[in-house]
Amino acid sequence: MRVDGIQNGIVIDHIKAGRGMEIYDLLELKDKDCSVALMINVVSSKMGRKDIIKIDSDIPVDYDVIGYVDPGATINTIKDGKLIGKTNLKLPKKLVNVIKCKNPRCITSTEQELDQIFRLTDEENKIYRCIYCETAAKSKQK
Ligand code: ZN
Repeated sequence: MRVDGIQNGIVIDHIKAGRGMEIYDLLELKDKDCSVALMINVVSSKMGRKDIIKIDSDIPVDYDVIGYVDPGATINTIKDGKLIGKTNLKLPKKLVNVIKCKNPRCITSTEQELDQIFRLTDEENKIYRCIYCETAAKSKQK
């Protein structure tokens, strides 16, 4: 895979430096059967440093995961070597099976079949609450 020459796939650009790895982990990219390039601390005129993830395959990607980790990231969609779309992200209102509830008494700890669903309750402070028990899950970053 030529890092700059993706044929069909996506490039997640403008990731705040240091967050690329978290997106990589949450998207479970190491388990996907395709070429993925995780670039860390790339020099950016706009941002100083940034991370970039390039996925050279048309696999489904959960944009909510990326928006949750870094709502400032952008997604470039590439088809036949051409840029066909740019998506700006925002904090998702709802997260399904992205983060887990940490409350041991939550119904999701006993009922493993239940989806882990969180709702954004405080956009400014980026606070999500479990819809079952209201426990807050705050993202690691500010
Ligand atoms: Zn809960």
